[in-house]
Amino acid sequence: MELLLMGPPGAGKGTQAEVLTEKFNIPHISTGDMFRAAVKEGTELGKKAKECMDKGQLVPDEVTIGIVKERLSKDDCKKGFLLDGFPRTVEQADALTKILEELKLPNIRVLNINVPKEELVERAVGRRICKGCGKTYHLKFNPPKKENVCDACGKELYQRADDTAETMNERIGVYEASTKPLIEYYKKMGVYEEVDGKLSIEKVSEALIGLLS
Ligand code: ADP
Ligand code: AMP
Repeated sequence: MELLLMGPPGAGKGTQAEVLTEKFNIPHISTGDMFRAAVKEGTELGKKAKECMDKGQLVPDEVTIGIVKERLSKDDCKKGFLLDGFPRTVEQADALTKILEELKLPNIRVLNINVPKEELVERAVGRRICKGCGKTYHLKFNPPKKENVCDACGKELYQRADDTAETMNERIGVYEASTKPLIEYYKKMGVYEEVDGKLSIEKVSEALIGLLS
């Protein structure tokens, strides 16, 4: 099962990816997570990515396409995968189409989580992530049982540096200019499906699983 989860920043891609990758036992490939890991390790890639991420801009296509190509060639992707946060530009989508042709994987399904612009800033600003296992929470919509402590592994939660109202406004602008056109791109390819992302986390999961079952 090859899945591509799309949607604006803060729509719930990472949250739903946790559910879908566990249910279908496929790897979760998030370019945002890969860049954050590189920033933490202080690699050359991390330094380059951090500059763009802090400003709410996209990391250049050639860098991003390179890391995705390498990741999709790994053995664990042979049983399928879920891509989260990639592609974000037409150039990345064209590159992905080519990569999937090379890997002989013609059955990609594109699932878009639709959330109106007005709700995205609140979702991102309240987002908290576990330092240990990466699980995503929200202060209001999905709080941990104990304040600032991960329910799953007991480690502390943190807030992403780019989850400020200011950076979110920039990221939403970048989404509308560069990523939203991919809806038409995948509609034309006949592989586009969408769910209403305004519903609760559980309802969105149900809708996605319903499409995939
Ligand atoms: P993305 O990966 O698309 O940027 P996340 O999955 O990290 O988005 O979700 C952004 C924030 O919104 C998180 O704090 C998450 O807990 C919360 N969230 C996700 N889905 C919903 C939902 N359906 N309703 C309310 N809050 C949600
Ligand atoms: P995300 O975790 O998906 O919200 O991504 C966080 C940041 O990582 C984005 O604002 C970009 O700076 C960068 N990023 C993630 N995925 C991509 C991508 N496919 N192309 C370019 N930049 C990306």
